[in-house]
Amino acid sequence: MTTTPEPLETTPLEQRLIDLIKLKGPMSVADYMADALGHPHDGYYMRQAPIGAEGDFTTAPEISQVFGELIGLWLVDAWRAMGSPKSFNLVELGPGRGVLMADILRAARLRPEFTKSAMVWLLETSGRLRHEQQKRLRTSEVKPFWADEFADIPPAPSLIVANEFFDCLPIRQFERVKNGWRERLVGLDPDGKKLAFVLGRTPPPPEIILPDISETKIGDIYEISSRAQEFTAEICALLTQHGGHALIIDYGHMASGLGDTLQAVRNHKYWAPLASPGRADVTAHVDFDALSCTIIDSGAVAHGPVTQGRFLEGLGLTLRVEMLCKGKDAAQANEIRAGAARIAAPNQMGEIFKALCISSPSLPVPAGFEGA
Ligand code: SAH
Repeated sequence: MTTTPEPLETTPLEQRLIDLIKLKGPMSVADYMADALGHPHDGYYMRQAPIGAEGDFTTAPEISQVFGELIGLWLVDAWRAMGSPKSFNLVELGPGRGVLMADILRAARLRPEFTKSAMVWLLETSGRLRHEQQKRLRTSEVKPFWADEFADIPPAPSLIVANEFFDCLPIRQFERVKNGWRERLVGLDPDGKKLAFVLGRTPPPPEIILPDISETKIGDIYEISSRAQEFTAEICALLTQHGGHALIIDYGHMASGLGDTLQAVRNHKYWAPLASPGRADVTAHVDFDALSCTIIDSGAVAHGPVTQGRFLEGLGLTLRVEMLCKGKDAAQANEIRAGAARIAAPNQMGEIFKALCISSPSLPVPAGFEGA
């Protein structure tokens, strides 16, 4: 992807944030992200049609049906290993256009008892995307429920899937300065006309744990996502009490480290993260190390992370692709193979995307995570 230079006029959300910063001073990157994505009127997910060829970015289930089908079979397998509970939550966090859940339910038809026992819950903030999910799942035998908050999911055994959801959760950024750390904030440029990064004037409070300055250099950035930690803790609480697994797939790093990963994408090109809030998707890499620490602290079990390529290959990607190609003409078969390569090849999505599984204690290691 290239960076797009085309400037846009000041968006209504940008003007509102500029006015707010003039009144109250700079805001955290986390508050900026939360508004840029989720502002009830002007947030990106509320206004735009973000996903797919006509949108701004695409995701693995949108690229290849094999992604959702393999995850569907993984879920059936995990459900059987849980003792095939007669009633369980099948939850998707941030279901986008509903493609992944549609593919999961289609693959799971193989085991009609699975679908019969499932209560499908979709956690989605965007009314526009809920409408698309409703349309796409209209013909499936299971009628989904929508949740505004994770707490709306009923207390029951649960299988949870989140693809490219955690990268939307707000992060705070901290920058190494001469004698310590300062929070990197969103303020205004010298003319007061555009949003710009500024540094907090005082050191962050001591409860924020930052790397030792002796291991860092001036200008280094460290990121923390409290929202991702809170979500993970909520998932762990449900799973440890009622049993189940949560499969989290996203781009990110295995080990916590330094680096600015805040990014924006518009029209399939990188975009400056502070330009045109509400018109571009603003995300950050997921810190899988930090999630794993929360999982262990919560008494749940963390499997992985493993790379998306390894996970999908472990579930039989190659075999499934060849099955799908049977009876297709050369062009169709090439398209299927190219889609699978895009989601699993190391130089495409296979390496940067990782899969992490949160499990309740005492369940066997789920497929794809053996030896991880
Ligand atoms: N999982 C889908 C879409 C990923 S895009 C796919 O793989 O294609 C991110 C999704 O998460 C969107 O549906 C967006 O509206 C939703 N989302 C983002 N932040 C959210 C939040 N805080 N609560 C609920 N849904 C959220």
